[in-house]
Amino acid sequence: MAEVLDLTISELRELLDSGDISAQELTGLYLERIASVDEKVKAYVTITEKEARDQAREADRKIKEGSASPLTGIPLGIKDVICTEGIPTTCSSKMLKDFRPPFNATVMEKLEAQCAVMLGKLNMDEFAMGSSTENSAFFSTRNPWDLERIPGGSSGGSAAAVAARMCVASLGSDTGGSIRQPASHCGVVGLKPTYGLVSRFGLVAFASSLDQIGPLTRSVEDAAILLEAIAGHDERDSTSLPRPVPRLRKSCQEGLKGIRVGIPKEYFIEGVQEKVVSEIKKGLKAMEEMGAELVDISLPHTEYAIATYYIIATAEASSNLSRYDGVKYGFRAENYSNLMEMYKETRAQGFGPEVKRRIMLGTYCLSAGYYDAFYKKASQVRTLIIEDFKKAFGKCDVIASPVAPTTAFKIGEKVHDPLQMYLSDIFTIPVNLAGIPGMSVPCGFDRKGLPVGLQLMAGHLQEEILFRAAYNLERGLGLERKWPSLN
Ligand code: GLN
Repeated sequence: MAEVLDLTISELRELLDSGDISAQELTGLYLERIASVDEKVKAYVTITEKEARDQAREADRKIKEGSASPLTGIPLGIKDVICTEGIPTTCSSKMLKDFRPPFNATVMEKLEAQCAVMLGKLNMDEFAMGSSTENSAFFSTRNPWDLERIPGGSSGGSAAAVAARMCVASLGSDTGGSIRQPASHCGVVGLKPTYGLVSRFGLVAFASSLDQIGPLTRSVEDAAILLEAIAGHDERDSTSLPRPVPRLRKSCQEGLKGIRVGIPKEYFIEGVQEKVVSEIKKGLKAMEEMGAELVDISLPHTEYAIATYYIIATAEASSNLSRYDGVKYGFRAENYSNLMEMYKETRAQGFGPEVKRRIMLGTYCLSAGYYDAFYKKASQVRTLIIEDFKKAFGKCDVIASPVAPTTAFKIGEKVHDPLQMYLSDIFTIPVNLAGIPGMSVPCGFDRKGLPVGLQLMAGHLQEEILFRAAYNLERGLGLERKWPSLN
């Protein structure tokens, strides 16, 4: 039955509904797979075997009675930054190691309502800060295509688990590229939706004006299924948009004729790996052959995006992470003689080095006398970046670019050089600053056999056209479906 593990959500739906396989059998296969390969990949922080088997039994009952939804009985993995009632939600931090939320995130409620199966919680960079999953307080996740390499981050566990076939699909979160970059490095599809399309209620906050939850999947169609399931207005998130759920699977069916694909000159620069560029060009050619028109565009403020992001994201993080004080949540230091010392010791012991670096940077940017020079300036540059995209989308319908300048790097290669690590986010960060949707679509492999992703971006709430372009690109490339065996 090994090949069952290769199937997509839409393919499994048919098998489940026709009774060729039960949700309990499918869940059992995935649990076996986790037991046999997660030792090597280390994607899961928590495996929820008992809950998964119970959910699968319930799913089988629903399927039998003929009331299955698109995700009924589909085994999924969830990034450990999304609150799951009664189940540890650690953010891969010592601070929340024993935290069991008393409530479910909105996205979890939506998945449960469809009777999807949750196999467990997936490893990440601590509090979603990082690009390699090496900042997890527990262990590093490995890239299933080459175990010596990083899977990307911060949703490294979510991407690795899908590629290693330890879940059919997963949820991640993306503040500056954390879904798209690991998706690209692991050869899966990863989507960051328009800001406000998916509720952030129950997503542990990193940078509230940038964070979004989104799917990591084996196909563009699966990303559409998962996004349709989790999108929608939610009163419990004040930034949630009062919009109907987009009809993505329908728009996938339309062709590429007449679609204008913008190629930003600032994204094809020196320093981008040669094979990344050549694989992306193949993708562009495939789109052109299907009737798309390629147009040159410019996003002139791209070079300021990283500086802008590392002011805004750290400022918001310093405020959001002030709640971890040893009183309200999680970890508390043991030896202290007064309240102030308790706070200090708790935060000194509970947070890892990258999280501390960001809290200090953010606190500095927000402090009296520096606010105007840093935070206010960054907000103004953010507006310029938004304007860049608005202008560009006057000339094109979607924008195509690399996801990351290189394919997956070696574990340990950049971990002691934060600036190098930050630079690898150059092509994903502008999308978060502008609040628009972006998707990583697998488009080839480098000479070492490591996956390369192509990023597609679209205007605010233009998910339908984004999916249309992505679905056709996937088909046009006709990449043979292959996955790392790990045996
Ligand atoms: N790598 C980026 C960072 O370290 C993005 C993280 C994210 O999207 N959560 O901040």
